[in-house]
Amino acid sequence: SIKTAFLGLGAMGAPMAAHLARHARDTGGEALVWNRTAARAESHAAEYGSRAVSLQEAAQADVLFTCLPTSAEVDEVIAAMQEHLRPGSFWMDCTSGHPDAARRQRGQLAVRGVRFLDAPVSGGTAGAQAGTLTVMLGGPTDEVDAVRPALAFAGKVVHVGDTGAGFAVKAVNNALLAVNLWAAGEGLAVLARAGVDVSAALEVINASSGRSNATENLIPQRVVTREFPATFALGLLAKDAGIALDLAQSTRGSAPVLAQTAALIRAAAHAIDPDADHTAALKLVELMNTQEIR
Ligand code: NDP
Repeated sequence: SIKTAFLGLGAMGAPMAAHLARHARDTGGEALVWNRTAARAESHAAEYGSRAVSLQEAAQADVLFTCLPTSAEVDEVIAAMQEHLRPGSFWMDCTSGHPDAARRQRGQLAVRGVRFLDAPVSGGTAGAQAGTLTVMLGGPTDEVDAVRPALAFAGKVVHVGDTGAGFAVKAVNNALLAVNLWAAGEGLAVLARAGVDVSAALEVINASSGRSNATENLIPQRVVTREFPATFALGLLAKDAGIALDLAQSTRGSAPVLAQTAALIRAAAHAIDPDADHTAALKLVELMNTQEIR
């Protein structure tokens, strides 16, 4: 039986930590939780049977998880905990972080005998609630194999490479989400301007080669309905597209479409609202076309 600690009970972290609490109950382990706004940790404990603790106490866990907005907040939490950390433990960072930060953080934690693995996730808040997230792990194979049983929120676990590779794959996946979403928005806005019914166009596209998760799910469920439910913030998608762009630059790759899309998503975050759902990026496409997508 193992002791886990989950730091960061946001839209993703809270349901992920709930699966750790369930797993702990089934296996005689313990699931600690910590959140900057402490009330969220206390209500998590009351609802799911986790235990709300201080950062110092969380440091005693065998496996620590973080799921914070960016690698910068993970740096802050590492700094606050460093002197309390226990040699032999694992630090699984489920943030969609930066590959350069992963290499730095792994080195910093290794000094304390703690093994850092980048472990970002995909599947959204629905996947976090269902416990079916895909986890993409960066780090040495023996460490990846050691932590697999602890990933109670996962439906699929893929070891994608060495430290930083998990964050790299996550950034590129989300850059592709951004490209698909933005491109579909442009196409549909143009069709609407031409007088075509957007739902009829989506029915065709979703039976055809232009389909994507954006056309099959995001646009019909969030844009056409005008609901834009806030599950994944536009500012976080802009961050992810920017990390993919950094990766292209640091490897001297050539990725002009990713670069353009990163700039457009950043512009949308500024022009619309970084805290709005990521699908609200299409409100900028709508402004650019004086045409609603519906
Ligand atoms: P949220 O904004 O819902 O949650 C952010 C969490 O980070 C909160 O617990 C917040 O605490 C905490 N936090 C913020 N700043 C600090 C700080 N300076 N120190 C300590 N804690 C801090 O974000 P999400 O859960 O949506 O996203 C988390 C990560 O997961 C991001 O990297 C995102 O890109 C990624 N992700 C998100 C998905 C989604 O669908 N939402 C899907 C897959 C990955 P407090 O309660 O005090 O504000």
